[in-house]
Amino acid sequence: MSSFFKTPIEFLKGVGPQKAALLNKELNIFTYADLLQHYPYRYEDRTKFYSIRELHEQMPNVQIKGQIRGRELIGEGRKQRLVIHFYDETGSVDLIWFQGIKWISPKLKTGVTYVVFGQPNKFGNKFSIAHPEIEVLTPALQNNHFLQPVYSTTETLRRKFLDSKALYNLQKVLLKEAYNRIPETLPQSILQQYAFMPKKDAVAQIHIPREEQMLQKARFRMKFEEFFFMQLRLLMQKKIRLEKFKGQLLAKTDLLTRFYQSHLPFDLTGAQKKVIREIFNDFKSGKQMNRLLQGDVGSGKTIVAFIASLIAIDSGAQVALMAPTQILANQHYEGLKEFADKIGVKIALLTGSSKTKARRKIHEELLSGELHILVGTHALLEDVVQFKNLGLAIVDEQHRYGVAQRARLWKKNETFIPHVLIMTATPIPRTLSMSVYGDLDISTIDELPKGRKEIKTLHQYDANRLRLNGFIRKEIEKGRQVYVVYPLIEESEKLDLKDLMDGYESVQRAFPEYPISIVHGKMKADAKDFEMARFVKGETKIMVATTVIEVGVNVPNASVMVIENAERFGLAQLHQLRGRVGRGAEQSYCILVTTHKLSKEAKVRVNTMVRTTDGFEIAQVDMQLRGAGDMMGTQQSGQVDLILGDLREDEPVLTIARQAAQKIVKEDPELVSEENRLIKIQIENQAKKSVNWSRIS
Ligand code: ADP
Ligand code: MG
Repeated sequence: MSSFFKTPIEFLKGVGPQKAALLNKELNIFTYADLLQHYPYRYEDRTKFYSIRELHEQMPNVQIKGQIRGRELIGEGRKQRLVIHFYDETGSVDLIWFQGIKWISPKLKTGVTYVVFGQPNKFGNKFSIAHPEIEVLTPALQNNHFLQPVYSTTETLRRKFLDSKALYNLQKVLLKEAYNRIPETLPQSILQQYAFMPKKDAVAQIHIPREEQMLQKARFRMKFEEFFFMQLRLLMQKKIRLEKFKGQLLAKTDLLTRFYQSHLPFDLTGAQKKVIREIFNDFKSGKQMNRLLQGDVGSGKTIVAFIASLIAIDSGAQVALMAPTQILANQHYEGLKEFADKIGVKIALLTGSSKTKARRKIHEELLSGELHILVGTHALLEDVVQFKNLGLAIVDEQHRYGVAQRARLWKKNETFIPHVLIMTATPIPRTLSMSVYGDLDISTIDELPKGRKEIKTLHQYDANRLRLNGFIRKEIEKGRQVYVVYPLIEESEKLDLKDLMDGYESVQRAFPEYPISIVHGKMKADAKDFEMARFVKGETKIMVATTVIEVGVNVPNASVMVIENAERFGLAQLHQLRGRVGRGAEQSYCILVTTHKLSKEAKVRVNTMVRTTDGFEIAQVDMQLRGAGDMMGTQQSGQVDLILGDLREDEPVLTIARQAAQKIVKEDPELVSEENRLIKIQIENQAKKSVNWSRIS
């Protein structure tokens, strides 16, 4: 790549060492390329002049033109302000300066027509604009309608006169020299297919847009490019993985048929069948499977995992099922053991609290191949846990695991890397799964088992406690059980624990006649399991808990989920918690208890929960509120490296970019054709982390 773009920013006309140091520090701009990639984050419409009569309070920045008819200096010293009386044919506004009065005042003259730009405020019945931009109206300004880019900058930079406008001027200076040097990054075929403008024009339009339509075309092209190279990278990784890693052939179905015909307690949903077929196809393909199984809470992922396990076991392979918590591991074990026993499949549980003797037995039986399914927590990852032939690794609720842990699972079979099935009950929006999991195959269970009643969700203010307690009592009298959940946020763990304990006491006071369980993260695993078990058996009627019960726990008789301080939970968590009820045949309820003081965002979260039970819809709102990066946590968001592209609004661009990338991977995976030379250069540059030209896009 041309060294021109690596030129230190200091050498740009109008910058110099001091400003360069500031740009380095404040905006991470070190080189010409960095500056060019500092895109405007919005544009102001300077195509329209408003008349003063048209102004109203809700307006963002507006542009007016007129003349100065008077001025006043009001106040003394630091409190002094300059007030300019500014008129057009329809009325007047006050232009006000609190700073730089000495500098601006002599420049403002009567009898000259000015263009003024700023945000109008109303005091009494008069509009004023504080610190407006003001310049003499020239014929050029009058006719040259344009969109003014706005660049992010910082307070420090503004004080040193590096405001948005100054950055804009630097871009203009740079673009004069850079324009003809900006290399094309997309092949002719793609440019033609989508009628894209050349790269250099797109970059120029982004900084100096000529008109709205050109700007939109430029932005579209640049976003396309970001998504295209991201997708290409993911798809190429996937292709390499598929070629490099042979998968164990798992194709026998006798065991499965036997189970299906005599022991399956219900009919599978269409979605479950579809997913099982997808997994089976992978097993038969001779390639290693890496599949993400998405399915809302209660959609029945466990049985899918079990059926996949049967296919693996039938072909002589073993299965590991890893859960994020002891409670969950327990529950999986209990649930699956029932099925396993019926068809002579041997299953064991290994967690942090397994006794040495039991452990040793498990280790032996794994090595001899006697043990078919091992369920457990991350204790499974320990090196002493060795399989005879691990064929399938199932990871439940994967968002709690890192990639590194997944890699440790891989190492447990030296001949064939095990097939991997990752199950998650946290639906994520399509754009996000295409980005973060773009290199995985994705299966979705988008259908709940028949006969489920939709959970009714209500919002209650905590002042209505008595009514709420009355409702809970009625449900318990009908024979149901109730969860009461308190938030647990790590920074204030002590406070939260106190909230929980206070809550526990008040629940006890309100329901002295019923036995109550309590579970929280500070309890020993044994004590937790004991309390959990009492609730599962129905010995206790109310379970007071923190979010440790968030994932996976299955108590079909529990039909009421009360979430205290619901405003403190995120949407994904609320959705998970709600999923703990509605698992039996009864009508279930989720009650979100909040104070009266709700932030705007908290209101959106609560209202969304009340409105819908669709996990994907909830995930979409969650992404709108938090942004994609936050949603995935910092670790994974690193993979979503976008400057202009936004997963919240750019699904159409992402979709065509993915298609274009798929076509390339299919037709020219090695990027050997002359046509795809430019793509190859980009991919190599990305790998080298040199000037990253796919990012200038
Ligand atoms: P999740 O996808 O949240 O892990 P589970 O696998 O725990 O859901 O299933 C939830 C409940 O639904 C379990 O009690 C399970 O036995 C039951 N279930 C699963 N599939 C079906 C089905 N096709 N028909 C009826 N009940 C089902
Ligand atoms: Mg589950």
